[in-house]
Amino acid sequence: RAKLQQRTGYLHFSRSMGIDIRERVNMMHALRAAFEERHLFVVYQPQIDMVTRLPVGAEALLRWQTEDKTMISPSRFIPIAEYSGLIIELGEWVLRQACQELVRIQRHGFPNFMMSVNVSQVQFRHPHFLSMLRKALEDTNAPPHCIELEITESMAMEEPDALIKLLDQITETGVSIAIDDFGTGFSSLSHLQKLSVDRLKIDRAFVMEITDSSRGSSIAEMIIQLGRNLELDIIAEGVEDERQAKILTELGCPYGQGYLFSKPLTSDALHDWLRTHKTT
Ligand code: C2E
Ligand code: MG
Ligand code: MG
Ligand code: MG
Repeated sequence: RAKLQQRTGYLHFSRSMGIDIRERVNMMHALRAAFEERHLFVVYQPQIDMVTRLPVGAEALLRWQTEDKTMISPSRFIPIAEYSGLIIELGEWVLRQACQELVRIQRHGFPNFMMSVNVSQVQFRHPHFLSMLRKALEDTNAPPHCIELEITESMAMEEPDALIKLLDQITETGVSIAIDDFGTGFSSLSHLQKLSVDRLKIDRAFVMEITDSSRGSSIAEMIIQLGRNLELDIIAEGVEDERQAKILTELGCPYGQGYLFSKPLTSDALHDWLRTHKTT
C-alpha cells in the first residue's frame, strides 16, 4: 500500500508539475518572442513632492502587450523572466530605456528629474551587474545621481556581507538605492543601518490602511519615523485618494506616487503630462 501511495503520489505530483512547467515554458517562449518583436515597452509613473504637488521623478515599469492587445501584468511575467534568465537582458534593456528617457526629460526643462528602475534579485546577483550598470550609464550619458535602483526588502535581507559590498559599489557610481515595498519584509533596524540605502518606499498596503481611523499609529507612520531616525528619504506608493495624501503629508512623508497623481504613462504621455505640471 505504501508503495502504491508513493506511486500515485508521484504520478499526481509529476502530472501537475508537467502542466505547470509546460505553461511556464510556453510563456517563456512567448515572452522572448515579445521582447524580440518589440511588444514590450516601458511606462513611467510620476513621483511628486507631496507639499508642492510638482513632479520630481518617475518610476520605470515594464509592460507586455500581446498581439491581440491583451496586457500581461509584470507580476506574472517578471517571475517567468527570472526563471528563464531572460531578466538579465530584459532588465538591462529597461535600465537603458529609462536612462535615455531621463536624459530627454532633463533636457526638456526638468534638470533635476529622477528616474527609478526596478531591479530583480536575479539581475542583482549576476556577477556582471555592476559593470552592466556602469556601461549603461556611460553609453546613455545619464547622470548617475539622478538614477535610483529599487530593490525589494527581501533582497536587502540576503547575504549581509556580499550585499553590503555591492550596495557600497553601486553608491560609488553615484546611483542611489531604494527599498521597494518596504514594511512587507522583516529587515531589522541594525541590519538597515549597515546598508547604503537612500530611500524607503512605503508599500501600497500600508498606504491603504492609513485611513482606518480605528487604529492607533499606523505602519506608514512608523516607517516615516524610521526614515527620520536613520536619515533615509521616504516615498509612499499607491496613493489613490486625497485623504491618504493629506495624512501622509501631515506625517511628514515628502514624496508620493500613485493613481491620485498619475497612472504609469507612455513616454509621449509622460512628456505631455510634464508640460502641464511645470514649475515655472
Ligand atoms: P512595484 O515596483 O512595487 O511597482 C508599483 C506597482 O503599483 C506598479 O504595478 C504600479 O502600476 C502600481 N501602482 C502604482 N500606483 C498605484 C495605485 O495608486 N494603486 C494601485 N492599485 N496600484 C498602483 P505594475 O506596473 O503592475 O508592476 C508590478 C510589479 O512588477 C512592480 O511592483 C515590480 O515589482 C515589478 N516590475 C515592473 N516593472 C519591472 C521591471 O522593469 N523590472 C523588474 N525587475 N520588476 C518590474
Ligand atoms: Mg518599484
Ligand atoms: Mg513598490
Ligand atoms: Mg508594491
